[in-house]
Amino acid sequence: MRFSTMLLPTLKETPADADVISQKLMVRAGMIRKVAAGIYDLLPLGVRVIRNVEKIIREEMNRSGAQEILMPTVLPAELWSESGRWEEYGAELLRLKDRHGRDFCLGPTHEEAVTDIVRRDVKSYKGLPLNLYQIQGKFRDEIRPRFGLMRGREFIMKDAYSFHATDESAEEEYVKMRDTYSRIFERCGLTFRAVEADAGNIGGNFSHEFMVMADTGEDAIAVCDTCKYAANLERAEIRPYEAKESGEDASTNEVDTVTTPGVKCIEEVSVFLDVSKETLIKTLIYNTDAGPVAALVRGDAELNELKLKRVLGAEFVELADDKTVEEITGAPVGFAGPVGLKIRIVADHAIRGMVDSVAGANEANTHLLNVNQGRDFEAEYGDLRNGAEGDGCPRCAGTLSVCRGIEVGHIFKLGTKYSVSMGANFLDENGKAQPMIMGCYGIGVGRVAAAAIEQNHDEAGIVWPAPLSPFDVEILPIKIADLEVRKAAFELYTELTEAGLDCLIDDRKERAGVKFKDADLIGIPLRVTLGDRNLKEGNVEFKDRGTGEVRLVAVADAAEEVLKSIRGAGQ
Ligand code: ATP
Ligand code: MG
Repeated sequence: MRFSTMLLPTLKETPADADVISQKLMVRAGMIRKVAAGIYDLLPLGVRVIRNVEKIIREEMNRSGAQEILMPTVLPAELWSESGRWEEYGAELLRLKDRHGRDFCLGPTHEEAVTDIVRRDVKSYKGLPLNLYQIQGKFRDEIRPRFGLMRGREFIMKDAYSFHATDESAEEEYVKMRDTYSRIFERCGLTFRAVEADAGNIGGNFSHEFMVMADTGEDAIAVCDTCKYAANLERAEIRPYEAKESGEDASTNEVDTVTTPGVKCIEEVSVFLDVSKETLIKTLIYNTDAGPVAALVRGDAELNELKLKRVLGAEFVELADDKTVEEITGAPVGFAGPVGLKIRIVADHAIRGMVDSVAGANEANTHLLNVNQGRDFEAEYGDLRNGAEGDGCPRCAGTLSVCRGIEVGHIFKLGTKYSVSMGANFLDENGKAQPMIMGCYGIGVGRVAAAAIEQNHDEAGIVWPAPLSPFDVEILPIKIADLEVRKAAFELYTELTEAGLDCLIDDRKERAGVKFKDADLIGIPLRVTLGDRNLKEGNVEFKDRGTGEVRLVAVADAAEEVLKSIRGAGQ
């Protein structure tokens, strides 16, 4: 491709409305242009990168035995009513009407559409298992579209859905997809972790998110320094602190009351009584579908509502309003404590290890000192708090550290949610109708490209991992007006192109400095510079975009050397 004829509008200035580096660099490198919030044009350079990601995904999905299909973007409301999601999905679902007033939506995901295909055409266990995938535009009316392609409203997704006759088959496919995803992201040249997205249930975990490690990631992840355990921080299990045997360290201090006028939150109590937050018990009153509950965490910890739900086996938990708290505790908000409470009490494991703690007295302006579990109150114990740097790994003796990541893929065992609601049944070997068991597997294609930039860039621009690079090599003739230079550059270009490489030749009549800047910005891994001085000595210059390493190569060997360095790198 000739730079002079390509729509490759690079920019010197950083766009004002870009929040993250990948978005800035994609705009500056002429890959994308914003059309509306979360809606982008992909320009030729951008499309090349997206196609590279898609190619890797397609090859690996095909290799796994999945079959490519293409479903419509515009989907009829009836399908979504069948699953119940027409009502449930909320504002992310963009709904529209056709000329006859019939309801449609722009597909944000395709469980309904694919279940419709399979129930129509697969009737027997003989047609299963089946894994169908597509690479297609999705629309989600995200509340906060941002970060360019990373959180768009219209974006390209690879979504796959598998259908099975048995649980074992669904779980086998899950493992196969996990391996397939690992291969995909490895081939993309990314540093990533497969992260448990749900608490590990007995019998295995069947929801993993694939996270590309980057400081700008939206997700906090807990990663073990010793084993492979990694989980979304908000869902990460943490090893309980060593529980003290009851009796051991038992306190002989009597419970004491102390007046704490207007002193309500943990901070205030800790300052007022001059005690560390670790000695305080935080008591939170929740309304849940399992009834009102008091949830206790240590004063320095954050309660995690997902975990609370899990411990209670509840569908919904919500902090009680002031009135309810008063009714339950007999005191205004800020003075709740476990002693004497008449409702169910669940406590984080850490509470068990506390001796002589401070808690609310269930009386206005009053706290209790020397509160001890077992002696002064009973509770059910569980993992209720958010993990933090330095917590113990739940799987081994290692320590968790917290880092940030970008979710580029998600695999999930769905079960029979859609097959039951939409009647996707098959006849088993005994001729009995059974609902199919499903799995779903997504990858954000544009997000992969953006994440690759977040992970691979420097002050000058993008540093593409070779497999995603829009071109294999950039040829940069310094003075295109010089006949010798021009001739040598185009000879090299032709030879490499004929050998099957994707080459960009910067044949613009621009100053060397401009061309170098653009080359660094666009980030093609290998640059071959042809200058009149080097050429007079029979040489061209190879520069590695990543390491900055420069070497001279005889012009006669240049094509062969390029091929060697690219094919040798395993492309
Ligand atoms: P998120 O938590 O980031 O909103 P999600 O759980 O809604 O993601 P899925 O429904 O599992 O995402 O979609 C599969 C993949 O599609 C995600 O792993 C992500 O890579 C990508 N994706 C989701 N939403 C967007 C978006 N708004 N823009 C770009 N890619 C997206
Ligand atoms: Mg989402």
